[in-house]
Amino acid sequence: MDKKGRLIIISAPSGCGKSTIIGDIMDRKELDLQFSVSATNRKPRPGEIDGVNYHFLSDQQFNDLIAEGAFVEYEQVYPGRYYGTLRSELQNSVNAGHNVILDIDVKGGVNVKKQFGEDAISIFIAPPSIDELRKRLKGRGSDSDEEIEQRVGRAEYELGFQNEYDHVVINDTLSEAIVKIEQLMKDFINN
Ligand code: ADP
Ligand code: 5GP
Repeated sequence: MDKKGRLIIISAPSGCGKSTIIGDIMDRKELDLQFSVSATNRKPRPGEIDGVNYHFLSDQQFNDLIAEGAFVEYEQVYPGRYYGTLRSELQNSVNAGHNVILDIDVKGGVNVKKQFGEDAISIFIAPPSIDELRKRLKGRGSDSDEEIEQRVGRAEYELGFQNEYDHVVINDTLSEAIVKIEQLMKDFINN
């Protein structure tokens, strides 16, 4: 029988380095990774492309997909802003034998792990400390002071879910965090 791909769930509070780490690891050809493009009803940010970063939908389109049962999971991550993992997105990649990375929030991550069990690995990326997280968010320069405090507040809430993940990796030194996550993925894919 052809080998089926497997699911790699990555969750992290905003600013913990998830984009930096996933961006680096996606380039490793031997891991044969595809990114699960989620659906959302939020508007695209400058530079974001429909079908690449997200499937950008209207409220109506998102609700229709909920009614059709098209989502493996969906969450209201911020007030009025919905994000969901499409069943079709996972099936196509997994059936073609590719491994799929899901960049989803903590509730979605715990939910997908429950549904897929041994066919999924869940990894939580944590900051070395809340102070360091605040420093990185400031250094990134993409958010106002008010938004940074909102993200830090949400990070404290999300950190409460880390024990529900298979693995927690602290992103202290970036290169070391990348090596650890890559190794976890290799071990999982090859077992
Ligand atoms: P996320 O995708 O989780 O919101 P980013 O990948 O955008 O986070 O990282 C947030 C900021 O922190 C970026 O400016 C990034 O360059 C920086 N960063 C990421 N990892 C580290 C690290 N280990 N040490 C110092 N800075 C880091
Ligand atoms: P952003 O708007 O910054 O792109 O994403 C906000 C949050 O939504 C991030 O924590 C991201 O991981 C999460 N997210 C993205 N796609 C999904 C999804 O399909 N399901 C869930 N539950 N969360 C998602």
